[in-house]
Amino acid sequence: MSKEQEKPSRFFPHPRGSGKGGAQAAEVSGRGVSRMVESFMKLPGIGRKSAERLAFALLGMPREEAAGIAQAILDLKNNSRYCSVCNNITEDEVCSICHDVARDASRICVVEEPSNILILEKTGIFRGRYHALLGAISPLDGIGPEDLKIDGLMERLRAGGIKEVIIATNPTVKGETTALYLSKLIKPLEIGVTRIAYGLPVGGDIEYADENTVQRALEGRREM
Ligand SMILES: [Zn+2]
Repeated sequence: MSKEQEKPSRFFPHPRGSGKGGAQAAEVSGRGVSRMVESFMKLPGIGRKSAERLAFALLGMPREEAAGIAQAILDLKNNSRYCSVCNNITEDEVCSICHDVARDASRICVVEEPSNILILEKTGIFRGRYHALLGAISPLDGIGPEDLKIDGLMERLRAGGIKEVIIATNPTVKGETTALYLSKLIKPLEIGVTRIAYGLPVGGDIEYADENTVQRALEGRREM
């Protein structure tokens, strides 16, 4: 056997077609790229293709820029914490929304996750305060009310001065269960409880909406 014939087997230890999904980053581009790809794939919505694109984008970046990204990740993990009042993400004891005296302290919007606060804030419509439960009731997953940040919410409500609690949990079975549980808990305090409306997605077509969504949109209709 000549040297020319030996070479391929050393660089391609696995015969062609034996692996799933073709060549992997580890064999082709080295362990550094492979490790980066595997890391990116841990993020939501990132498949192998996107992860590979991101890894190569990092490789193509100036060193300082890539280091900035690495540092931003470390800073995020080292400095972020939950607001002691509303469980929003903050770098301080209390978040900027809870600190803002210009906001309506008599209205609290209850959400499942701190990331929901960001989305609601982008609308600019709600000028009250928030409370993130850090989850939703889900008996199938063994998550009960005691696993959520409900005590903190009730404490805030009992402290007085709250006129309305807007429940903005997700329109899912878990979100609905949580909303129902909260409304039963809050009503005896004689505080108004409202639920965000369900509707059709803006720019969507009724034809493609499921029956439940159309039904909810009809129930949530308002005068024009
Ligand atoms: Zn807060």
